[in-house]
Amino acid sequence: MTMFPKAKASNVETYEVRYRPGDSEANAILRAALLKEGKGRCYLCRTRVTFAGSEIDHIVPWSISAANLEPIKKKYLPPAQAERFGLHRAHNLAPICTTCNSTKSDGTFEDVEALAVWLKRAHDRQAAVEKSVMDLRSEFGLMKSMSKLLAVDFSSASVQECLLTLGPTLIDRFRSEAPAVLEGLSAYVYRGEYSDHGCLDQRTFADGPLIRPIVLDEGSRRAKVALEEVFRWDFDELLDIAFGAVECAIRDDQADQLRGALEEGSSAELGSVEGLMIITVNEVRIEERIVVVRGSYESDGSAEIAIVDYQNDSGTSGGQREVQSRGDFEVPLWEEQARPEAGDVDLY
Ligand SMILES: [Zn+2]
Repeated sequence: MTMFPKAKASNVETYEVRYRPGDSEANAILRAALLKEGKGRCYLCRTRVTFAGSEIDHIVPWSISAANLEPIKKKYLPPAQAERFGLHRAHNLAPICTTCNSTKSDGTFEDVEALAVWLKRAHDRQAAVEKSVMDLRSEFGLMKSMSKLLAVDFSSASVQECLLTLGPTLIDRFRSEAPAVLEGLSAYVYRGEYSDHGCLDQRTFADGPLIRPIVLDEGSRRAKVALEEVFRWDFDELLDIAFGAVECAIRDDQADQLRGALEEGSSAELGSVEGLMIITVNEVRIEERIVVVRGSYESDGSAEIAIVDYQNDSGTSGGQREVQSRGDFEVPLWEEQARPEAGDVDLY
């Protein structure tokens, strides 16, 4: 089985973790990491802060002049650390609440003894902060947090915890890269091959199955955005594949039912099953590295039967058998354009 397609990876190996002026996405991830390693507290007043209520603070202000920086490094840092010191590196960054940030002065700090303590704490956390940023940036981290975010059971404590730590960062990424994810419930106009015959009118099999306009719920909408924006799937095509598989599964099931209803030992042969079919998609989810499409169906099936009849000149006599079926379906998709077999579809 082919696994889920890979998210577009950023240059993970060569990435240097630091504050990047003007790069709000990079800074949002850095802020989440600083907040996580800083135990969710403002480093100055120690009050709890949320992601939204926090900012990144440069412990030694980044506006400081080189001439003023040198004596500070000498006074507050061990020589080895002073040598590697960078104003935008994690050893000079800490999460700060908005209140403290607005009152903190960008002064020279020459007489602030606490500076040694703050810098030491930041230094001690540097490795963890950098690892946390790399995890969030990596394909694995993105996959992990994305699948958690998309397939969430909001009542679960571990999901809530995950959303609290990763959600804000991802939402910031979505906001900049795929704003559609933050819109409300939306009707999606499907334009795949099954929609060629229009919607809302009752159709016969010859016209193809009828697809109603699809209303995407919260989870499906997020899945759609992720599939399109992150994995570059064509959503209409994905639904086509699902519809095709569901249709085959329903017809197979109807053929089985019709065959089962024929008299035992009968030599009757069953023709292809045709008739009205209505397939409605209710959810699209990304779960455990596969895409799952769920919905309901309603279908009339009828088939010609041919019975071998030696009394008849032509050798056969015919008839028609009908069946109605309705229920729900679930179809898993592993990769774009890989057609699932009818047997992969669950009808229930
Ligand atoms: Zn504060």
